[in-house]
Amino acid sequence: MNNTLIDYEKTKNLVFTPDQDYYNDIFHQHATSGYTEAIHLAQERVSDFLKNNRKPFSGIRPEEMKSKVENIDLDTPLPDYESLFNEVDELYVNHATAYHLPEYIAHLNCPVVIPALAAEVLISAINSSQDTYDQSAGGTFIERKLIDWTSEQIGYSDKADGIFTAGGSQSNLMGLLLARDYFSLEFQKWNIKLDGLPPDASKFRIFVSDKAHFSNHKNAWILGLGEQAIVHVGVDSRYRMDPKQLEKAILEEKAKGNIPIAITATAGTTDFGNVDPLTEIARIASRNNLWLHVDAAYGCGLLLTEKYRYLLNGIELADSVTIDYHKSFFQPISSSAFIVKNKLHLNIIKHHADYLNPKEQNYDALPAQINKSIIQSTRRFDALKLWFTLRYMGKKKLGQYTETIIAMASETADLLEADKDFELLTDSDLGVLVFRYKPSGWQGDCCKMNLHIKTKLFFSGEVLVASTKVNGIFYLKFTILNPLTTIAHIHTILSIIKKHGNEYIFS
Ligand SMILES: *Cc1c(COP(=O)(O)O)cnc(C)c1O
Repeated sequence: MNNTLIDYEKTKNLVFTPDQDYYNDIFHQHATSGYTEAIHLAQERVSDFLKNNRKPFSGIRPEEMKSKVENIDLDTPLPDYESLFNEVDELYVNHATAYHLPEYIAHLNCPVVIPALAAEVLISAINSSQDTYDQSAGGTFIERKLIDWTSEQIGYSDKADGIFTAGGSQSNLMGLLLARDYFSLEFQKWNIKLDGLPPDASKFRIFVSDKAHFSNHKNAWILGLGEQAIVHVGVDSRYRMDPKQLEKAILEEKAKGNIPIAITATAGTTDFGNVDPLTEIARIASRNNLWLHVDAAYGCGLLLTEKYRYLLNGIELADSVTIDYHKSFFQPISSSAFIVKNKLHLNIIKHHADYLNPKEQNYDALPAQINKSIIQSTRRFDALKLWFTLRYMGKKKLGQYTETIIAMASETADLLEADKDFELLTDSDLGVLVFRYKPSGWQGDCCKMNLHIKTKLFFSGEVLVASTKVNGIFYLKFTILNPLTTIAHIHTILSIIKKHGNEYIFS
Protein backbone atom coordinates (compact mmCIF):
# COMPACT_ATOMS: atom_id res chain seq x y z
CA MET A 1 0.00 0.00 0.00
CA ASN A 2 2.66 2.42 1.12
CA ASN A 3 4.86 2.16 -1.97
CA THR A 4 2.01 3.19 -4.28
CA LEU A 5 1.76 6.55 -2.54
CA ILE A 6 3.83 9.42 -3.85
CA ASP A 7 6.69 10.38 -1.55
CA TYR A 8 6.19 14.15 -1.52
CA GLU A 9 9.43 14.85 0.30
CA LYS A 10 11.34 13.07 -2.41
CA THR A 11 9.65 14.93 -5.29
CA LYS A 12 10.40 18.26 -3.60
CA ASN A 13 14.11 17.51 -3.57
CA LEU A 14 14.20 16.11 -7.05
CA VAL A 15 17.20 17.61 -8.82
CA PHE A 16 17.29 17.85 -12.58
CA THR A 17 20.81 17.14 -13.71
CA PRO A 18 22.10 18.89 -16.86
CA ASP A 19 22.08 15.69 -18.89
CA GLN A 20 18.33 15.60 -18.45
CA ASP A 21 18.05 17.45 -21.70
CA TYR A 22 14.30 17.08 -21.67
CA TYR A 23 13.84 19.61 -18.84
CA ASN A 24 16.54 22.10 -19.65
CA ASP A 25 14.56 24.46 -21.82
CA ILE A 26 11.52 24.85 -19.62
CA PHE A 27 11.34 27.85 -17.31
CA HIS A 28 11.29 26.18 -13.90
CA GLN A 29 13.00 26.28 -10.54
CA HIS A 30 16.09 24.33 -11.57
CA ALA A 31 16.64 26.16 -14.83
CA THR A 32 17.99 29.48 -13.54
CA SER A 33 21.39 29.03 -15.19
CA GLY A 34 19.89 28.26 -18.60
CA TYR A 35 17.54 31.20 -18.20
CA THR A 36 20.32 33.59 -17.21
CA GLU A 37 22.54 32.48 -20.09
CA ALA A 38 19.84 33.03 -22.72
CA ILE A 39 18.73 36.40 -21.37
CA HIS A 40 22.32 37.58 -20.97
CA LEU A 41 23.10 36.75 -24.60
CA ALA A 42 19.93 38.55 -25.69
CA GLN A 43 21.01 41.64 -23.75
CA GLU A 44 24.41 41.58 -25.44
CA ARG A 45 22.80 41.52 -28.87
CA VAL A 46 20.54 44.40 -27.96
CA SER A 47 23.54 46.39 -26.73
CA ASP A 48 25.30 45.67 -30.03
CA PHE A 49 22.18 46.85 -31.87
CA LEU A 50 22.50 50.18 -30.03
CA LYS A 51 26.28 50.45 -30.37
CA ASN A 52 26.67 49.44 -34.01
CA ASN A 53 23.70 51.08 -35.64
CA ARG A 54 24.55 54.36 -37.32
CA LYS A 55 21.67 54.30 -39.80
CA PRO A 56 17.97 53.72 -39.08
CA PHE A 57 17.82 51.01 -41.77
CA SER A 58 20.28 48.76 -43.61
CA GLY A 59 18.46 49.38 -46.90
CA ILE A 60 18.03 45.68 -47.58
CA ARG A 61 15.56 44.91 -50.39
CA PRO A 62 12.51 42.75 -49.63
CA GLU A 63 13.55 40.07 -52.14
CA GLU A 64 16.91 39.56 -50.40
CA MET A 65 15.30 39.62 -46.95
CA LYS A 66 12.68 37.13 -48.06
CA SER A 67 15.14 34.60 -49.43
CA LYS A 68 17.27 34.77 -46.27
CA VAL A 69 14.22 33.83 -44.21
CA GLU A 70 12.82 31.32 -46.68
CA ASN A 71 16.12 29.41 -46.77
CA ILE A 72 15.90 28.42 -43.12
CA ASP A 73 14.95 24.82 -42.39
CA LEU A 74 12.65 25.12 -39.38
CA ASP A 75 12.73 21.38 -38.70
CA THR A 76 16.47 21.33 -37.95
CA PRO A 77 17.25 23.20 -34.71
CA LEU A 78 20.57 24.94 -34.14
CA PRO A 79 23.21 23.44 -31.77
CA ASP A 80 23.43 26.35 -29.29
CA TYR A 81 22.32 29.88 -28.40
CA GLU A 82 25.40 31.41 -29.97
CA SER A 83 24.47 30.12 -33.43
CA LEU A 84 20.84 31.02 -32.86
CA PHE A 85 21.66 34.64 -32.05
CA ASN A 86 24.04 34.83 -35.01
CA GLU A 87 21.31 33.61 -37.31
CA VAL A 88 18.73 36.04 -35.90
CA ASP A 89 21.20 38.91 -36.29
CA GLU A 90 21.35 38.09 -40.00
CA LEU A 91 17.61 37.60 -40.40
CA TYR A 92 16.37 40.40 -38.21
CA VAL A 93 18.48 42.48 -35.83
CA ASN A 94 21.01 43.78 -38.37
CA HIS A 95 18.20 44.98 -40.62
CA ALA A 96 15.63 46.08 -38.05
CA THR A 97 14.38 49.64 -38.28
CA ALA A 98 16.05 51.62 -35.51
CA TYR A 99 13.41 53.92 -34.02
CA HIS A 100 15.83 55.34 -31.48
CA LEU A 101 17.92 57.20 -34.08
CA PRO A 102 16.89 60.79 -34.89
CA GLU A 103 17.28 59.95 -38.60
CA TYR A 104 14.20 57.77 -38.15
CA ILE A 105 11.55 60.43 -38.58
CA ALA A 106 8.83 58.45 -40.37
CA HIS A 107 5.91 56.91 -38.48
CA LEU A 108 4.47 57.10 -34.99
CA ASN A 109 7.12 54.87 -33.43
CA CYS A 110 8.67 56.31 -30.32
CA PRO A 111 12.02 55.48 -28.79
CA VAL A 112 11.29 53.50 -25.62
CA VAL A 113 12.28 54.20 -22.03
CA ILE A 114 14.60 51.78 -20.27
CA PRO A 115 12.55 51.06 -17.11
CA ALA A 116 9.77 49.75 -19.38
CA LEU A 117 12.26 47.37 -20.99
CA ALA A 118 13.22 46.05 -17.56
CA ALA A 119 9.53 45.49 -16.88
CA GLU A 120 9.25 43.49 -20.11
CA VAL A 121 11.72 40.97 -18.70
CA LEU A 122 9.39 40.33 -15.77
CA ILE A 123 6.23 40.43 -17.86
CA SER A 124 7.30 37.78 -20.34
CA ALA A 125 9.00 35.47 -17.85
CA ILE A 126 6.41 35.45 -15.07
CA ASN A 127 3.77 35.55 -17.80
CA SER A 128 0.73 36.52 -15.72
CA SER A 129 -2.54 36.71 -17.56
CA GLN A 130 -4.72 39.63 -16.69
CA ASP A 131 -8.15 38.04 -17.18
CA THR A 132 -8.90 37.03 -13.58
CA TYR A 133 -7.51 37.67 -10.11
CA ASP A 134 -6.47 34.03 -9.74
CA GLN A 135 -4.20 34.42 -12.79
CA SER A 136 -2.72 37.82 -11.99
CA ALA A 137 -3.19 38.86 -8.31
CA GLY A 138 -1.22 42.12 -7.95
CA GLY A 139 -1.36 42.59 -11.71
CA THR A 140 -5.11 43.20 -11.56
CA PHE A 141 -4.72 46.02 -9.04
CA ILE A 142 -1.67 47.55 -10.72
CA GLU A 143 -3.63 47.74 -13.98
CA ARG A 144 -6.66 49.20 -12.20
CA LYS A 145 -4.59 51.85 -10.46
CA LEU A 146 -2.98 52.90 -13.74
CA ILE A 147 -6.41 53.12 -15.39
CA ASP A 148 -7.59 55.30 -12.48
CA TRP A 149 -4.46 57.44 -12.79
CA THR A 150 -4.99 57.86 -16.54
CA SER A 151 -8.67 58.75 -15.95
CA GLU A 152 -7.53 61.40 -13.51
CA GLN A 153 -5.15 62.88 -16.10
CA ILE A 154 -8.09 63.06 -18.51
CA GLY A 155 -10.11 64.90 -15.89
CA TYR A 156 -12.68 62.15 -15.29
CA SER A 157 -14.29 61.53 -11.88
CA ASP A 158 -13.98 58.28 -9.94
CA LYS A 159 -16.93 56.97 -11.96
CA ALA A 160 -14.52 56.29 -14.83
CA ASP A 161 -13.02 52.93 -15.65
CA GLY A 162 -11.24 51.18 -18.48
CA ILE A 163 -8.82 48.51 -19.53
CA PHE A 164 -5.44 48.02 -21.17
CA THR A 165 -5.77 46.93 -24.81
CA ALA A 166 -3.50 45.82 -27.63
CA GLY A 167 -3.59 49.19 -29.37
CA GLY A 168 -5.45 52.27 -30.47
CA SER A 169 -7.41 50.48 -33.18
CA GLN A 170 -8.84 48.09 -30.61
CA SER A 171 -9.59 50.92 -28.17
CA ASN A 172 -11.38 52.81 -30.94
CA LEU A 173 -13.40 49.66 -31.66
CA MET A 174 -14.49 49.54 -28.02
CA GLY A 175 -15.56 53.18 -28.19
CA LEU A 176 -17.76 52.62 -31.22
CA LEU A 177 -19.09 49.32 -29.86
CA LEU A 178 -20.27 51.02 -26.67
CA ALA A 179 -21.65 53.93 -28.69
CA ARG A 180 -23.66 51.59 -30.92
CA ASP A 181 -25.00 49.33 -28.16
CA TYR A 182 -25.70 52.20 -25.78
CA PHE A 183 -27.66 54.05 -28.46
CA SER A 184 -29.78 51.01 -29.23
CA LEU A 185 -30.42 50.18 -25.58
CA GLU A 186 -31.14 53.73 -24.50
CA PHE A 187 -33.12 55.11 -27.42
CA GLN A 188 -34.54 52.02 -29.14
CA LYS A 189 -34.91 49.61 -26.19
CA TRP A 190 -33.05 47.08 -28.33
CA ASN A 191 -30.32 44.82 -26.94
CA ILE A 192 -27.78 44.26 -29.71
CA LYS A 193 -25.72 41.86 -27.59
CA LEU A 194 -28.64 39.46 -27.30
CA ASP A 195 -30.63 40.15 -30.44
CA GLY A 196 -28.15 41.31 -33.04
CA LEU A 197 -28.45 44.50 -35.03
CA PRO A 198 -31.81 46.31 -35.11
CA PRO A 199 -33.62 46.55 -38.47
CA ASP A 200 -32.56 50.17 -38.99
CA ALA A 201 -28.86 49.61 -38.14
CA SER A 202 -27.81 50.42 -41.70
CA LYS A 203 -29.00 53.97 -41.02
CA PHE A 204 -26.67 54.47 -38.04
CA ARG A 205 -24.15 57.24 -38.70
CA ILE A 206 -20.77 58.01 -37.12
CA PHE A 207 -19.09 61.37 -37.73
CA VAL A 208 -15.32 61.63 -38.11
CA SER A 209 -13.09 64.22 -39.73
CA ASP A 210 -11.48 63.73 -43.12
CA LYS A 211 -8.22 63.14 -41.25
CA ALA A 212 -9.48 60.59 -38.70
CA HIS A 213 -7.65 57.28 -38.38
CA PHE A 214 -8.69 54.52 -40.80
CA SER A 215 -9.50 52.20 -37.89
CA ASN A 216 -12.82 54.06 -37.61
CA HIS A 217 -13.81 52.74 -41.03
CA LYS A 218 -12.67 49.21 -40.32
CA ASN A 219 -14.42 49.27 -36.97
CA ALA A 220 -17.72 50.42 -38.51
CA TRP A 221 -17.45 47.41 -40.80
CA ILE A 222 -16.57 45.03 -37.94
CA LEU A 223 -19.57 46.35 -36.01
CA GLY A 224 -21.87 45.38 -38.87
CA LEU A 225 -22.67 48.96 -39.84
CA GLY A 226 -20.46 49.03 -42.90
CA GLU A 227 -18.05 51.75 -43.90
CA GLN A 228 -21.07 53.57 -45.28
CA ALA A 229 -21.92 54.47 -41.66
CA ILE A 230 -18.90 56.79 -41.54
CA VAL A 231 -19.68 60.40 -42.43
CA HIS A 232 -16.65 62.52 -43.30
CA VAL A 233 -16.72 66.00 -41.85
CA GLY A 234 -14.67 68.72 -43.51
CA VAL A 235 -11.61 70.24 -41.86
CA ASP A 236 -10.24 73.72 -41.26
CA SER A 237 -6.97 75.09 -42.64
CA ARG A 238 -5.02 73.10 -40.03
CA TYR A 239 -6.86 69.88 -40.95
CA ARG A 240 -8.93 69.78 -37.77
CA MET A 241 -12.62 68.85 -37.74
CA ASP A 242 -14.68 71.96 -38.47
CA PRO A 243 -17.52 72.18 -35.89
CA LYS A 244 -19.78 74.15 -38.28
CA GLN A 245 -19.45 71.47 -40.92
CA LEU A 246 -20.07 68.85 -38.23
CA GLU A 247 -23.39 70.45 -37.26
CA LYS A 248 -24.34 70.74 -40.89
CA ALA A 249 -23.47 67.09 -41.57
CA ILE A 250 -25.58 65.91 -38.62
CA LEU A 251 -28.59 67.92 -39.87
CA GLU A 252 -28.14 66.61 -43.39
CA GLU A 253 -28.01 62.99 -42.24
CA LYS A 254 -31.12 63.45 -40.12
CA ALA A 255 -32.90 65.04 -43.08
CA LYS A 256 -32.04 61.97 -45.15
CA GLY A 257 -33.70 59.78 -42.51
CA ASN A 258 -30.41 58.45 -41.14
CA ILE A 259 -29.66 58.03 -37.45
CA PRO A 260 -26.59 59.79 -36.00
CA ILE A 261 -25.20 57.78 -33.06
CA ALA A 262 -21.63 58.94 -32.44
CA ILE A 263 -18.75 61.30 -33.17
CA THR A 264 -15.10 60.32 -33.09
CA ALA A 265 -12.93 63.38 -32.53
CA THR A 266 -9.19 63.01 -33.05
CA ALA A 267 -6.77 64.48 -30.52
CA GLY A 268 -3.63 64.42 -32.63
CA THR A 269 -4.27 63.34 -36.22
CA THR A 270 -1.88 60.78 -37.68
CA ASP A 271 -1.19 62.98 -40.69
CA PHE A 272 -0.86 66.42 -39.10
CA GLY A 273 -0.68 65.97 -35.34
CA ASN A 274 -3.41 68.51 -34.78
CA VAL A 275 -6.15 68.31 -32.16
CA ASP A 276 -9.81 68.66 -33.17
CA PRO A 277 -11.67 71.42 -31.23
CA LEU A 278 -12.84 69.11 -28.45
CA THR A 279 -14.96 71.50 -26.40
CA GLU A 280 -17.04 72.67 -29.33
CA ILE A 281 -17.45 69.12 -30.63
CA ALA A 282 -18.51 67.96 -27.15
CA ARG A 283 -21.19 70.67 -27.08
CA ILE A 284 -22.54 69.48 -30.43
CA ALA A 285 -22.46 65.86 -29.27
CA SER A 286 -24.38 66.69 -26.14
CA ARG A 287 -27.01 68.78 -27.98
CA ASN A 288 -27.63 65.88 -30.36
CA ASN A 289 -27.44 63.05 -27.80
CA LEU A 290 -24.44 61.54 -29.56
CA TRP A 291 -21.73 59.43 -27.97
CA LEU A 292 -18.41 61.27 -28.16
CA HIS A 293 -15.30 59.17 -28.49
CA VAL A 294 -11.95 60.98 -28.44
CA ASP A 295 -9.15 59.17 -30.24
CA ALA A 296 -6.09 60.44 -28.35
CA ALA A 297 -3.88 57.55 -29.51
CA TYR A 298 -1.25 60.06 -30.53
CA GLY A 299 -2.19 63.21 -28.58
CA CYS A 300 -2.33 61.50 -25.17
CA GLY A 301 1.23 62.65 -24.47
CA LEU A 302 -0.18 66.16 -23.99
CA LEU A 303 -1.88 64.94 -20.81
CA LEU A 304 1.49 65.00 -19.07
CA THR A 305 2.72 68.42 -20.15
CA GLU A 306 2.12 71.57 -18.18
CA LYS A 307 2.73 73.84 -21.11
CA TYR A 308 0.45 72.20 -23.68
CA ARG A 309 -2.19 70.42 -21.56
CA TYR A 310 -4.70 73.10 -22.61
CA LEU A 311 -4.75 71.64 -26.14
CA LEU A 312 -6.75 68.73 -24.70
CA ASN A 313 -9.29 70.92 -22.92
CA GLY A 314 -12.69 69.31 -23.39
CA ILE A 315 -11.37 65.74 -23.48
CA GLU A 316 -13.00 65.25 -20.07
CA LEU A 317 -16.40 65.77 -21.74
CA ALA A 318 -15.95 62.70 -23.96
CA ASP A 319 -17.83 59.49 -23.19
CA SER A 320 -14.75 57.45 -23.98
CA VAL A 321 -11.08 57.95 -24.84
CA THR A 322 -8.35 56.00 -26.62
CA ILE A 323 -4.84 56.27 -25.15
CA ASP A 324 -1.77 54.76 -26.81
CA TYR A 325 1.04 54.61 -24.29
CA HIS A 326 3.11 52.98 -27.04
CA LYS A 327 2.85 56.14 -29.12
CA SER A 328 3.31 59.05 -26.75
CA PHE A 329 4.36 57.65 -23.38
CA PHE A 330 7.54 56.08 -24.81
CA GLN A 331 6.39 52.53 -24.03
CA PRO A 332 7.30 49.37 -25.95
CA ILE A 333 4.53 47.86 -28.12
CA SER A 334 1.89 46.90 -26.98
CA SER A 335 0.62 49.33 -24.41
CA SER A 336 -2.69 51.04 -24.88
CA ALA A 337 -5.90 51.77 -23.00
CA PHE A 338 -9.59 52.35 -23.46
CA ILE A 339 -11.18 54.60 -20.83
CA VAL A 340 -14.89 55.35 -20.28
CA LYS A 341 -16.31 58.27 -18.34
CA ASN A 342 -19.09 56.16 -16.81
CA LYS A 343 -18.03 52.67 -15.77
CA LEU A 344 -21.62 51.39 -15.99
CA HIS A 345 -21.30 51.51 -19.76
CA LEU A 346 -18.68 48.79 -19.57
CA ASN A 347 -21.39 46.39 -18.37
CA ILE A 348 -22.41 46.13 -22.01
CA ILE A 349 -19.26 44.10 -22.63
CA LYS A 350 -19.61 41.65 -19.74
CA HIS A 351 -20.14 38.02 -20.68
CA HIS A 352 -20.07 35.24 -18.11
CA ALA A 353 -18.33 31.91 -18.52
CA ASP A 354 -18.77 29.38 -15.71
CA TYR A 355 -15.14 28.33 -15.67
CA LEU A 356 -13.73 31.87 -15.65
CA ASN A 357 -16.07 34.57 -14.43
CA PRO A 358 -19.32 32.98 -13.23
CA LYS A 359 -22.37 35.20 -12.90
CA GLU A 360 -22.81 34.58 -9.15
CA GLN A 361 -19.24 35.69 -8.25
CA ASN A 362 -18.83 38.91 -6.24
CA TYR A 363 -16.48 40.95 -8.42
CA ASP A 364 -15.77 43.52 -5.73
CA ALA A 365 -14.29 40.75 -3.60
CA LEU A 366 -12.67 38.75 -6.40
CA PRO A 367 -12.12 41.02 -9.42
CA ALA A 368 -11.86 39.93 -13.05
CA GLN A 369 -10.59 42.35 -15.66
CA ILE A 370 -11.95 40.04 -18.36
CA ASN A 371 -15.38 41.51 -17.69
CA LYS A 372 -14.14 44.67 -19.45
CA SER A 373 -12.30 43.07 -22.34
CA ILE A 374 -13.90 42.62 -25.75
CA ILE A 375 -11.63 40.30 -27.68
CA GLN A 376 -8.74 39.29 -25.47
CA SER A 377 -9.21 36.66 -22.76
CA THR A 378 -5.59 35.71 -22.08
CA ARG A 379 -3.97 39.12 -21.91
CA ARG A 380 -0.41 40.33 -21.24
CA PHE A 381 0.45 42.34 -18.15
CA ASP A 382 1.46 45.34 -20.28
CA ALA A 383 0.50 47.67 -17.46
CA LEU A 384 3.69 46.82 -15.56
CA LYS A 385 5.76 48.74 -18.13
CA LEU A 386 3.93 51.97 -17.44
CA TRP A 387 4.15 51.25 -13.71
CA PHE A 388 7.95 50.90 -13.89
CA THR A 389 8.11 54.09 -15.95
CA LEU A 390 6.03 56.22 -13.60
CA ARG A 391 7.62 54.85 -10.44
CA TYR A 392 11.17 55.23 -11.74
CA MET A 393 11.05 58.34 -13.96
CA GLY A 394 7.87 60.08 -12.93
CA LYS A 395 5.18 61.80 -14.94
CA LYS A 396 7.00 65.11 -15.21
CA LYS A 397 9.97 63.79 -17.16
CA LEU A 398 7.69 62.09 -19.71
CA GLY A 399 5.85 65.39 -20.10
CA GLN A 400 9.14 67.20 -20.69
CA TYR A 401 9.99 64.78 -23.49
CA THR A 402 6.75 65.74 -25.23
CA GLU A 403 7.45 69.45 -24.70
CA THR A 404 10.91 69.06 -26.23
CA ILE A 405 9.43 67.27 -29.23
CA ILE A 406 6.81 69.98 -29.78
CA ALA A 407 9.44 72.70 -29.59
CA MET A 408 11.61 70.86 -32.12
CA ALA A 409 8.67 70.40 -34.51
CA SER A 410 7.91 74.09 -34.28
CA GLU A 411 11.53 75.00 -35.00
CA THR A 412 11.50 72.61 -37.95
CA ALA A 413 8.29 74.21 -39.25
CA ASP A 414 9.97 77.63 -39.10
CA LEU A 415 12.94 76.27 -41.01
CA LEU A 416 10.74 74.78 -43.75
CA GLU A 417 8.72 77.94 -44.01
CA ALA A 418 11.78 80.14 -44.29
CA ASP A 419 13.18 78.03 -47.15
CA LYS A 420 11.56 78.97 -50.46
CA ASP A 421 12.42 75.56 -51.90
CA PHE A 422 10.15 73.74 -49.44
CA GLU A 423 6.39 73.87 -49.22
CA LEU A 424 4.93 73.15 -45.75
CA LEU A 425 1.17 72.50 -45.52
CA THR A 426 0.59 73.51 -41.90
CA ASP A 427 2.20 73.59 -38.47
CA SER A 428 1.51 70.89 -35.87
CA ASP A 429 0.19 70.80 -32.29
CA LEU A 430 2.46 67.78 -31.84
CA GLY A 431 5.30 66.66 -34.10
CA VAL A 432 4.08 65.94 -37.65
CA LEU A 433 5.10 68.06 -40.62
CA VAL A 434 3.73 67.47 -44.11
CA PHE A 435 5.80 69.15 -46.81
CA ARG A 436 7.45 68.69 -50.18
CA TYR A 437 10.60 69.77 -51.95
CA LYS A 438 9.56 72.24 -54.61
CA PRO A 439 12.54 74.28 -55.81
CA SER A 440 11.32 77.70 -56.83
CA GLY A 441 11.29 78.11 -60.58
CA TRP A 442 11.37 74.36 -61.30
CA GLN A 443 8.46 73.26 -63.52
CA GLY A 444 8.77 69.44 -63.36
CA ASP A 445 6.57 66.82 -61.69
CA CYS A 446 6.92 67.47 -57.95
CA CYS A 447 5.02 64.32 -56.95
CA LYS A 448 7.41 62.09 -58.89
CA MET A 449 10.44 63.94 -57.56
CA ASN A 450 9.35 63.67 -53.92
CA LEU A 451 8.48 60.00 -54.33
CA HIS A 452 11.97 59.52 -55.77
CA ILE A 453 13.45 61.26 -52.70
CA LYS A 454 11.52 59.03 -50.32
CA THR A 455 12.49 55.82 -52.13
CA LYS A 456 16.15 56.84 -52.38
CA LEU A 457 16.29 57.65 -48.69
CA PHE A 458 14.66 54.36 -47.74
CA PHE A 459 17.00 52.11 -49.72
CA SER A 460 20.06 54.04 -48.66
CA GLY A 461 18.81 53.64 -45.10
CA GLU A 462 20.40 56.93 -44.04
CA VAL A 463 17.12 58.73 -43.29
CA LEU A 464 13.61 57.30 -43.02
CA VAL A 465 10.74 59.66 -43.75
CA ALA A 466 7.05 58.92 -44.31
CA SER A 467 4.71 60.25 -46.96
CA THR A 468 1.04 60.97 -47.47
CA LYS A 469 -1.30 62.34 -50.08
CA VAL A 470 -3.33 65.48 -49.55
CA ASN A 471 -5.90 66.29 -52.26
CA GLY A 472 -4.14 63.85 -54.56
CA ILE A 473 -0.72 65.48 -54.13
CA PHE A 474 2.23 63.48 -52.80
CA TYR A 475 3.97 64.96 -49.75
CA LEU A 476 6.82 63.91 -47.52
CA LYS A 477 6.07 63.61 -43.83
CA PHE A 478 8.20 63.97 -40.72
CA THR A 479 6.96 62.50 -37.45
CA ILE A 480 9.21 63.84 -34.71
CA LEU A 481 8.74 61.58 -31.71
CA ASN A 482 12.26 61.48 -30.33
CA PRO A 483 13.26 63.98 -27.63
CA LEU A 484 16.90 63.53 -28.72
CA THR A 485 16.27 65.00 -32.18
CA THR A 486 18.12 68.31 -32.49
CA ILE A 487 17.93 71.09 -35.05
CA ALA A 488 21.32 69.91 -36.34
CA HIS A 489 19.75 66.54 -37.21
CA ILE A 490 16.94 68.36 -39.02
CA HIS A 491 19.41 70.49 -40.99
CA THR A 492 21.26 67.37 -42.08
CA ILE A 493 18.06 65.52 -43.03
CA LEU A 494 16.81 68.49 -45.07
CA SER A 495 20.09 68.82 -46.93
CA ILE A 496 20.04 65.10 -47.78
CA ILE A 497 16.48 65.53 -49.08
CA LYS A 498 17.63 68.40 -51.27
CA LYS A 499 20.59 66.41 -52.52
CA HIS A 500 18.36 63.55 -53.74
CA GLY A 501 15.83 66.00 -55.17
CA ASN A 502 18.51 67.84 -57.13
CA GLU A 503 19.97 64.57 -58.40
CA TYR A 504 16.52 63.75 -59.79
CA ILE A 505 16.15 67.19 -61.37
CA PHE A 506 19.57 67.20 -63.01
CA SER A 507 19.67 63.54 -64.06
C1 LIG B 1 -1.84 55.04 -34.41
C2 LIG B 1 -3.20 55.56 -34.33
C3 LIG B 1 -4.29 54.70 -34.10
C4 LIG B 1 -4.13 53.19 -34.07
O1 LIG B 1 -3.41 52.78 -32.98
P1 LIG B 1 -2.65 51.37 -32.99
O2 LIG B 1 -2.06 51.32 -31.63
O3 LIG B 1 -1.65 51.43 -34.09
O4 LIG B 1 -3.69 50.31 -33.23
C5 LIG B 1 -5.53 55.24 -33.94
N1 LIG B 1 -5.71 56.56 -34.03
C6 LIG B 1 -4.71 57.42 -34.27
C7 LIG B 1 -5.00 58.89 -34.34
C8 LIG B 1 -3.42 56.94 -34.43
O5 LIG B 1 -2.41 57.80 -34.69
